[in-house]
Amino acid sequence: MKTDFKFKNVHSCEAVVLTCIDFRFWRETLEFVEKELGIKTFDFPSLPGSAKAINECLNDTDLAMQCINVPCDLHHAKKIVIVNHEDCGAYGGSAKFSGDAKAEINFHENELKKAKEKIMEKYPDKEVILAYAKLSEDKKNIEFLTIK
Ligand SMILES: [Zn+2]
Repeated sequence: MKTDFKFKNVHSCEAVVLTCIDFRFWRETLEFVEKELGIKTFDFPSLPGSAKAINECLNDTDLAMQCINVPCDLHHAKKIVIVNHEDCGAYGGSAKFSGDAKAEINFHENELKKAKEKIMEKYPDKEVILAYAKLSEDKKNIEFLTIK
């Protein structure tokens, strides 16, 4: 296979988007970032649990932090987007919250905020955007909520 390389001599991108590996969410996450956030160029690392991976880092050389460091330091990313999602297996899934969707959202909000704090310690000048992919309408839709 041969295809166009759209970024000849381009070494910078607008953002880094860290998301969960989950196959059920990443395509829609791409769409959310491009259409809703209006970000067109970004690195797109995925790790189980997304914010969880950041929060469990013990030091700056850990893999999850490298997923932020490389885009920021080498690709000059100005924005850092972290997306968690409902029913995330890395956190034990929705089962852990016994069907309490509100408790599940609150939990992920805290996780995302914790990850943001950790990243802001190193990159105080970057814009950090937090989002949660929630299942709605009897789990037939994915709705992206941005967390302030
Ligand atoms: Zn997940």
